[in-house]
Amino acid sequence: MERLIGRYGKFGAAKTFIIFAGIHGNEKAGIKALEELFADFTKNQIAFDGTIIGIAGNLKALEQNARFIHKDLNRQWYLSKIRKLGALPYGMLNTQEDIEQKEILDLILEIVHDKGKKLMLIDLHTTSAKGGCFTITNTLERSSELALQIPVPVINGMTNKIGGTTLEYFDQLGLPAIAFEAGQHEELEAVNRIKAALVSIFKHTACLEKELVKEYESSFLKMQEDFAHLPRKVNVLYRHPVEEEDAFVMEEGFGNFHRIQKGDLLARDKHGPIYSHLDGLILMPLYQKKGNDGFFIVEEEKIGYEF
Ligand SMILES: [Zn+2]
Repeated sequence: MERLIGRYGKFGAAKTFIIFAGIHGNEKAGIKALEELFADFTKNQIAFDGTIIGIAGNLKALEQNARFIHKDLNRQWYLSKIRKLGALPYGMLNTQEDIEQKEILDLILEIVHDKGKKLMLIDLHTTSAKGGCFTITNTLERSSELALQIPVPVINGMTNKIGGTTLEYFDQLGLPAIAFEAGQHEELEAVNRIKAALVSIFKHTACLEKELVKEYESSFLKMQEDFAHLPRKVNVLYRHPVEEEDAFVMEEGFGNFHRIQKGDLLARDKHGPIYSHLDGLILMPLYQKKGNDGFFIVEEEKIGYEF
């Protein structure tokens, strides 16, 4: 697999989308969606007022269909670490993810620091639990605006709960960024959702003319219908951290946005049962071996009393 999935658009255009796929190696829907989208745009010579740069994340982990090899590539994006990686030669790097990250930075750093660019990051993921289709924003207002172009719940307040994500990196650069969790890892519809979501954002940012690429509309409408029962915006209240030695096991049957109450049994680890200490909705319960987030608890954002 190549690091650069594709590049498309107008030479010298200001609006630039960096799109990551497969930052987690067991999440392949984003790669497939980008490959198909680039092929379609190229074949039909779609006019695009901007640049799309599609980048594959953890190549070694993608090869092994594992979330990561040594450590989670989506927890490594601290500015201090990025500076360090820039200064170190490849021969001095000890883990696979450091090599992967340095290769990605070699591709994007020049663009990221180009003041003439209007840059946006879209980071594509899938989840281990069912019912997972949502966007996550960093703290920039523009990120929420972009996220709202995808008809699934928007999760705010995640960057305070987990450090070192690609979203936080862009946050610190003052640039908008969203992650799109497009469904369960193996779900076929995830690829269609990603293509429809990207086209919707491209149209909203006036990179694509509204009447072009109409064939993605049916996937968009299906996504809108399938997730209409879920809240439009939620805030993260709690993250349950997990270490490998905890022997964390989620109780069966939880899906994204399942309503839970204080006192509900959610999981077990070596210390015993884990009960919810809050009322809310569960998000991203961990149903795979690798990962440091056991589950999140979120609450619906109250709308309707703005002054
Ligand atoms: Zn992921």
